[in-house]
Amino acid sequence: MRNGNSSVNPLRNPRGVVVKAALLVKNRDIDLCVGGLVPFTTIDFPGHLAAVIFLRGCSWKCLYCQNPHLQQNTKVPDDAIPWKLVEDFLSQRQGKLDGIVFSGGDPLLTPQLKAVVERVHSFGFFVALHTGGILPEHFAEVLPSLDWVGFDVKTIFEDYSTVTQIPDSGLAAEQSLDLLVKSGIPFEVRTSAHPSFLPSEKLLQLANSLVKKEVNAFALQRIRDMQGEYVPEFYDIPFIQKLQSLFKEFTVR
Ligand code: SF4
Repeated sequence: MRNGNSSVNPLRNPRGVVVKAALLVKNRDIDLCVGGLVPFTTIDFPGHLAAVIFLRGCSWKCLYCQNPHLQQNTKVPDDAIPWKLVEDFLSQRQGKLDGIVFSGGDPLLTPQLKAVVERVHSFGFFVALHTGGILPEHFAEVLPSLDWVGFDVKTIFEDYSTVTQIPDSGLAAEQSLDLLVKSGIPFEVRTSAHPSFLPSEKLLQLANSLVKKEVNAFALQRIRDMQGEYVPEFYDIPFIQKLQSLFKEFTVR
């Protein structure tokens, strides 16, 4: 789910953190494919030194997705690493990190997400989720266990299928965002954008709709190519300043 935040490829991410991917998480209660792990980040969970765990599975097909290898929710037995090693990782990081981020894919497509979140809490970590809100019912179930959410909004909700290629995906995303706003849990909305598919008028329309929903923190994310390089051409500075004036917290990354 990360792009800019957002879609860092855990195998070759542009921040230079390289991690062998594909952990298979298993124990009595949890049987879950993990697509990758970034052991240290200062930018994915505001105010926390964190690691990122990538969960496989996404049924949307965003045109700019940098993690297509995480869209498939298939197990990779050759790369399987037992849950014990994941727990070893968590216990080794106690006192060094204070947060764990679940990203994807979209972690909401992992039925065991709540169980995994609670497991990570039991190690004493705060837990953040990166999601596009693909399954509102599951989001409602997991939300009370979260400490922070990075919520991806693709475009105005009416136009979602032009990005995700999935009909009615905007309905799910808007419902999830409304749940998040009501929950009182700290969050940021982030939009990965490029003028060619999200012209400034439409981005402004989106920003105004977010303000109406009482979104306070917004991040505008530049699109990266598969090599992790920023795609050239972006919005002009006066327009970005206009966006900035709408939100209490505003970031370009
Ligand atoms: S929602 Fe799915 S397809 Fe879209 S960018 Fe995120 S992982 Fe990729």
